[in-house]
Amino acid sequence: MTQTFVSHLECSLTGERYEAGQIHGLSAAGRPLLVRYDLERLAAGVSKEALAASPEPGFWRYAPFLPVAQAADRVSLGEVMTPLIPLERSAAGLGARPGKALVKDEGRLPTGSFKARGLCLAVAMAKGFGIEHLAIPTNGNAGAALAAYARRAGLRASVFCPADTPDINVREIAQQGAEVWKVDGLINDCGRIVGEGKAKAGWFDVSTLKEPYRIEGKKTMGLELAEQFGWSLPDVIFYPTGGGTGLIGMWKAFAELREIGWLSGPMPRMVAVQAEGCAPIVKAWEAGEEHAPLWENAHTVAAGIRVPVAVGDFLIIRALRESGGFAMAVDDAAILATRDAVAREDGLLLCPEGAATVEAYRRALGQGLVGADERVVLFNCATGLKYPMAPVARTLARGETPDYAAMA
Ligand SMILES: *Cc1c(COP(=O)(O)O)cnc(C)c1O
Repeated sequence: MTQTFVSHLECSLTGERYEAGQIHGLSAAGRPLLVRYDLERLAAGVSKEALAASPEPGFWRYAPFLPVAQAADRVSLGEVMTPLIPLERSAAGLGARPGKALVKDEGRLPTGSFKARGLCLAVAMAKGFGIEHLAIPTNGNAGAALAAYARRAGLRASVFCPADTPDINVREIAQQGAEVWKVDGLINDCGRIVGEGKAKAGWFDVSTLKEPYRIEGKKTMGLELAEQFGWSLPDVIFYPTGGGTGLIGMWKAFAELREIGWLSGPMPRMVAVQAEGCAPIVKAWEAGEEHAPLWENAHTVAAGIRVPVAVGDFLIIRALRESGGFAMAVDDAAILATRDAVAREDGLLLCPEGAATVEAYRRALGQGLVGADERVVLFNCATGLKYPMAPVARTLARGETPDYAAMA
């Protein structure tokens, strides 16, 4: 047994304490459980220098901040530290200064999205606990990441996605060895099936925030940002928010790092970005509420943030409030126009969810919510290649002599 620094788990709503080393889902209050660490012992056992010298290129370099006890359970498909890519030419159209906003391109991770981080951790923990069959509701990327890591670990996965999930996602899930069903409904309808099947089919539920470890995986985005920024953080982080795992996870990472004294300078303002067709968190934020009721008739091209109800709603809203950030909704037409502009001008193909953060940044600059000199991180959570793109109409017939003058 390799040691971890985990001390216990804690209900995020009531603070009720749970033992580590046991299988957990939600707390008795029906809310997410958070993993707590003996940070004093961690700080004594780990250093920034040792971390900098780690040969591990991906998020397993942060193993001391993670709950996986056995090195053998660290399932891997070749994770990488994802790059920060400055917006250059496209900055002008946003009203921004070139180089001030950095896109964290999570599309470089296995299965092409940041869902790899959370599901890798959930699978590693499940493997350690001897769990054999996992199930998940998904808009596509979480299912793909679960499928890949479950197979890598030799576990079974059953995946339920809305019937209108793009074929490329559904097929990717099936291709990577999971059993996948297209469900007439939205992700919360898929979630209900997983919840019922838990008892009846013997699955373990790895829905967003319904087990404690996906959030620890997403926490590595915060650890990675801190290391990339030399242990001081950017001024503002724009995050496309569905279930909010990443936003909550990063905020947890920053709190842990601050507690062990590794961070200098102020904490970043966290911004939750949603689509106008599905903006429960924005609505609750603007109303000053901590909980966000189900959003009816959710629709948006940014499928990853089409999440009508989030079990961790209050954790998202608390992170916004504690950080001095805010929530903002943007419309689909603007999301796609921004995606096209960034690809055309900067050669950087974003996913619609990533483009939503760029569009929110543009609006925030215009409204004076963010300053032109501030260092901003925009999350591109998945590769743009998984999403529909505009068709190409130009053709050349066989043997046709091109009009080279028109091409010059
Ligand atoms: C899942 C997902 C999101 C939302 O992430 P959460 O941490 O669950 O809020 C955003 N974009 C993409 C592409 C996703 O797959």
